[in-house]
Amino acid sequence: MRQNDSYATLVNDFMSRLEDVMKQVPEENELVLRNLHEIREMANKISFRADSIDVYSLNYFFKCIDEAIEAGCIDDYAACRFDLKRFSVINHQFGREIGTKILNEFIVKLQKGLGKDGCVCRIHGDTFTMLFRRKKLSFVMGYLSGTMIEVGYKQKKRAMLSAHAGYYEIQEGKIPEEIMDRIGMAWNIAKHVRRVPYVFFDENLLKAVENEKWVESIFEEALEKEEFLVYYQPKVTLKNYRLTGAEALCRWKHDGEMIMPFRFIPVLEQSNMICDLDFYILEHVCRDISRWIKAGIPVVRVSVNLSRVHLGDVDLLQHVLEIVDQYEVPHEYIELELTETTTDVDFRELKHIVTGLRMQGFSVAVDDFGVGYSSLNLIREMPWKVLKIDKSFLPEGNEDDADEEQKKVMLKHIIGMAQNLGLECIAEGVETVEQVTLLKENNCYLAQGYLFDKPLPVEQFEERLGEMG
Ligand code: C2E
Ligand code: MG
Ligand code: MG
Repeated sequence: MRQNDSYATLVNDFMSRLEDVMKQVPEENELVLRNLHEIREMANKISFRADSIDVYSLNYFFKCIDEAIEAGCIDDYAACRFDLKRFSVINHQFGREIGTKILNEFIVKLQKGLGKDGCVCRIHGDTFTMLFRRKKLSFVMGYLSGTMIEVGYKQKKRAMLSAHAGYYEIQEGKIPEEIMDRIGMAWNIAKHVRRVPYVFFDENLLKAVENEKWVESIFEEALEKEEFLVYYQPKVTLKNYRLTGAEALCRWKHDGEMIMPFRFIPVLEQSNMICDLDFYILEHVCRDISRWIKAGIPVVRVSVNLSRVHLGDVDLLQHVLEIVDQYEVPHEYIELELTETTTDVDFRELKHIVTGLRMQGFSVAVDDFGVGYSSLNLIREMPWKVLKIDKSFLPEGNEDDADEEQKKVMLKHIIGMAQNLGLECIAEGVETVEQVTLLKENNCYLAQGYLFDKPLPVEQFEERLGEMG
């Protein structure tokens, strides 16, 4: 180590050596590259610790809270925790020295905007906390939603900085640790769960977090006790309203209460737990189909939802095959529903999965088509069998709604496109006779929705199957 080097120079040297090493690693060596990326992120954070910018320390944040509590005016304040979006990209683009100047300028301007009785304090790296008068809230929210920072004199460098932020309008009687916890919770939800620019802490958020913890803590036991039930929602053909298929939907019966998917699926999707649930549902569906076949009950194709979390599972196809083949269910009776994706990586993984499943004779459907960031490539490049049009494309018969006409035009063209590409097209969430008429006018003859049936418990669905024979 060179004794006289400044901290910044050492960090710069380290980062550029690391970059050189990363360039030499072949692309297929994904594991090594991923580790090196992580090391780069860590080095990024460490480098920030030698405070090269004009900012208060975290201790100062607590000191300000104590003072406001003592002065009896803490409920006139709001607190915020934020981190900058993609700051490492800025460092990468301009180099670390300029990156630090940009960060400094951003923080100094923010501090100026808060005035004398507000403070911006660094937690670590690009993560900060703030205390400020409530009347400054709109300034802070505007500033963190996106601010252009310019540094340098002759050669100006410009960067747009924005943040993920968690806010709390402080209530009287809260101690500093509670305030810190609340902004932390709101920030975490903004950044990792909802992926939105900001979230405000309130009692509902607390309930949501409690629900999350509760679900996570009892999920495994509930799975072992088989508390999850499969409900079957019929799919019908609009030609003669006969049953042609079904979607398996999960319900959780816990202590006599029926819990709907919106309370637990999003929680399970934050970890791999959702994969266990999906395989469990697939297994129960296979068990049911196998029983119907043995009992001579007519069988229809059943679709099972696969969460996007499965995209990272290289053994997904193997898992599906093991389950289905264990019950000797012919593959044509199983359909897997997957939703659209947004990123390139997901796109490649999704393509791999859809192709693999189709090669094994399973049907694969793109679920909720039209609500995500639908790309036409997603339809063209993957061998889907079925396209499920989301219910938001069905007009609700609300004549004042200017969107209704647009919805009809889009619905017509989605159906036309799907059919010309050789895809089966099904509308979900069909609730009215008018919607059925419109679907028929546009040559879409498959539908699922409350107009025909709600999701049914297995015994009732079995009766529906029996009536077909
Ligand atoms: P989805 O896959 O799009 O399922 C369709 C949802 O629409 C179901 O809600 C169904 O009950 C509801 N639905 C059906 N017909 C109508 C209608 O006419 N009107 C209205 N307003 N809604 C209708 P459900 O069962 O509450 O499931 C919600 C979501 O939870 C599902 O949306 C799916 O994304 C997820 N989900 C359910 N079970 C599973 C599962 O086993 N695994 C995974 N990964 N996700 C599941
Ligand atoms: Mg579905
Ligand atoms: Mg759907």
